[in-house]
Amino acid sequence: MLPPMTPKISRFLTESAPDTPCLVVDCDVVAANYDRLAAALPLTRIYYAVKANPAAPVLKILRDRGARFDSASIHEIKQCQALGIESDRLSFGSTIKKERDIAAAHQIGVPLYAFDSRGELEKIARAAPGRQVFCRFFMEGAGADWPLSRKFGCDLDMAADLLVQARDLGLDPYGVSFHVGSQQTDPGQWDLALGRTKMLFTALAGRGIDLRMINLGGGFPARYRADVPDVDDYAQSIMTAVTRHFGNRIPQMIIEPGRGIAGDAGVIEAEVVLVSQKGYDDPIRWVFLDVGKFGGLPETMDEAIKYRIEPIRAGAALEGDTGPCILAGPTCDEVDVLYEHHPYDLPLDLQPGDRVRFLAAGAYTSTYASIGFNGFPPLTEHYI
Ligand SMILES: *Cc1c(COP(=O)(O)O)cnc(C)c1O
Repeated sequence: MLPPMTPKISRFLTESAPDTPCLVVDCDVVAANYDRLAAALPLTRIYYAVKANPAAPVLKILRDRGARFDSASIHEIKQCQALGIESDRLSFGSTIKKERDIAAAHQIGVPLYAFDSRGELEKIARAAPGRQVFCRFFMEGAGADWPLSRKFGCDLDMAADLLVQARDLGLDPYGVSFHVGSQQTDPGQWDLALGRTKMLFTALAGRGIDLRMINLGGGFPARYRADVPDVDDYAQSIMTAVTRHFGNRIPQMIIEPGRGIAGDAGVIEAEVVLVSQKGYDDPIRWVFLDVGKFGGLPETMDEAIKYRIEPIRAGAALEGDTGPCILAGPTCDEVDVLYEHHPYDLPLDLQPGDRVRFLAAGAYTSTYASIGFNGFPPLTEHYI
């Protein structure tokens, strides 16, 4: 069952009637999502992927629950530091870092660094000597709505060699990582990745290196238009796979959830600006909203992420007969169309001034908004 918007968000939108477009995040849901993952995977350390939603209220909740934080840049590291998060709870998980940023993270005391290439390894060896490093290998992203397949990772042969070179360069070859792809709808994908992980552990043991850590990445889903398996299904698949491949000698495990923690916690409310047709016989209406690809919804690129959408009039659900619509944003850019190939059915009576809510929009939205394309300011944000 796809959960409705929380009563807290619903009340806030009704009572405060904030200007649109806006993102409203229920911090209780962030906390509950973290707690559920922590309970389902008690043997893992949870590094929240800060990039999913780096707002201070989100980071503070997770800080107070003892979470660790996976940072994609020195800026995220400093942001965590400014909130009093100890440096030993941070990792520098991007495989593409400036050497001076690695040095700054090393100075701050960040213990853990990712790489997937010789060039990156050499930078880490120079700028953060002796630190723990892990090598990311490729995954194809099958089953994921937002794959992370081509840009990150290397093949297994190269990963094995790089981990040996890490030792030779004076670093601590701590383990390996992978990402099965974001919004991963198939919990079985971790089994494939863990089989490869085991091959690397075996290969490295044969070369005198005892890897100690598996970074299982992110991929835990939010609830968009299509239902997805439960967190417990993911946890069970992962633990079954780990046990199958590693028996009872289970290494330290890390997960890096982003979407799975912040996604379901937020709702974007937008306003209908125009409803139009392109010809007298055209059965499909164009619905233009005050939010689009540049306003915080770039994950609609190729219609990859399909948000659940609820039309609203005067604070209540807008009902009545519906028909298919193409949804588009307000800017003068041709690419600013949200959904055309997967049309959404919206009420025939939909009018300018009505509102539309995007559910499960708490991750990969607010910081993805442009700063002022066409003069439109970024999404306003409310953390309640
Ligand atoms: C983005 C990212 C994550 C978070 O992925 P989700 O699918 O949002 O959970 C985790 N790890 C790394 C290295 C990432 O780049």
